[in-house]
Order: sequence, then C-alpha cells, then structure tokens
Amino acid sequence: MRDESLRSVLNRAAAFYECTSFQVWASLNSDDPRPVGDVESPSGAALHRMAAAIGMPASDLLAHRLPDAPWLLEPHARNIYCPMCWDEDSVRGEPCSIRRAWTWLLRTTCPQHGCPLRIAPEQWARFTRFHSLPAPQFSEQERRILHLIESFGQALEQSLYFGRPWPDDWRGNPQVARQLLLAVSFNVRKIRDFPLINYVQVSSNLTSLIRGPLHQYEPVRKLRWDSYREIADPALRRASLWATAWTLLPNLSTDLSPGWTKLPGHVQARIRCL
Ligand SMILES: [Zn+2]
Repeated sequence: MRDESLRSVLNRAAAFYECTSFQVWASLNSDDPRPVGDVESPSGAALHRMAAAIGMPASDLLAHRLPDAPWLLEPHARNIYCPMCWDEDSVRGEPCSIRRAWTWLLRTTCPQHGCPLRIAPEQWARFTRFHSLPAPQFSEQERRILHLIESFGQALEQSLYFGRPWPDDWRGNPQVARQLLLAVSFNVRKIRDFPLINYVQVSSNLTSLIRGPLHQYEPVRKLRWDSYREIADPALRRASLWATAWTLLPNLSTDLSPGWTKLPGHVQARIRCL
C-alpha cells in the first residue's frame, strides 16, 4: 500500500496466516545463516525473499524501507494511525496499513489530513473494514493548543537532527529541550509516582488526545532518549511536547498553559541549564 512500512506488511501477512509476525519473519529467513536485519531495513537477501513471497518486484519493496534513526519512534512502537486515512482506505476497499509518515517521533499529526494521530488497536492488521468515530469539532483554543504542540515538535526535530537554528527568542537550546521532554515524561521523583505530564489540564475534546500514562512509574535515575522513543501513544508525546513548549517559548498567552505557570522544582532540578 502507499507509503506502507515493511513491518506493517509483515503484520498483515501474520494476520492472514493467523500467526505472529515473529513466526512469519523467522519462517521466511529460516534457511539463511547470515544476519537478515530488521524487517524495516532487511538485508538484500531477506528483502528479495519477502518480495518473492508477496509476488512483487524487490525494487518496489525496496522503496518502502525505513532504516532506524533517533528522530523516529522505536521500531516496535510504530503502531500509529490516522483515522481519516483508514476511513478512506476502507471506502476504497483497501486494507488498513501503517504509513511511514506516521512514525516520526516528534510529530503527532497526519501530514495528509492534519488529523491527530492515534495509537492503533493491537489487532489492527486483522481489520477488514474500519469506521472511525466522527472527529470532534475542536474549539479555537483547542486548535491553537494542537497547533502549538505540532509546530514546536517539528521545530525541535529540525533543530536537533537537521541543522535548523534554534529560534533566538526561545529559552535553552535543542539539547535542553530534549532533556526537558524526558524529565516531564518520566518519574524524576525519588519515589514511585506519575510523571509531570499526568497533570496537564485539557478540555473535553482533548482528553483522549493529550494525557499522561495510566499507571505510576518507578523513579528513573538516568533519562534516556531511547526510552522516549518507546512511547508509542501520540497522546503522551503531545502532553510532553506541550509541557516543554510552555516552558521554553516566550510570551505564550495563559490560555495555552498546560495547567501550571512554572516548572515544579523536582523537574527543574533535572534540567541544569534552565
Ligand atoms: Zn491521514
């Protein structure tokens, strides 16, 4: 399918054969003693076997590779979807699939529809038809909050990984912003607790789109980017981007506040340069 990731292809094959994606991948490569790579970035031989099994030219499949990178979700955390894309797939009689365009870590919006991305149901690859709930009618303030989150996420991504300068009037720098994203997403207290993003206050239309985790976390001593890349749910990443943008961007109006004016001391203590 268009822009489909190779892991999505594998998951759909596994659903078809009523087994796990691990079993399909192992079966496909069982005769090859050489390293076969990850399904998103397979060895040439593994890619050819995959193409032969599907019945398509290997060159077509090659165009769907997605080598891992720090600006992408961790490979096993990429079950994300756009409800409008899946609705359109269903209308065309096409299967649901996961697009590569949805796997960017600091982006939580479908580039085609501007629609907030969501975490996919675990059994999505078994869906034959999909009907999303009607999209909520966002208020002007809700749209501004979603826009702030998306524009900040993209600006941070571009500064961290693609050489774009950090805006002069923003506080900190891209590395501080990255550290802050981690500090608000994980438990930086000394006892079991919720992270700061559990305290974001949102209006009703945004409750499923911006939130913290459902359970408390153990304290985390070392904040790691790879842990952030494992946060599949866009709702949690939106909350952390919002909290970080609110801290670093100057002169935001108070109606864009996530629910506090100043960063709590225990979070601030983890960001030495602020
Ligand atoms: Zn879409």
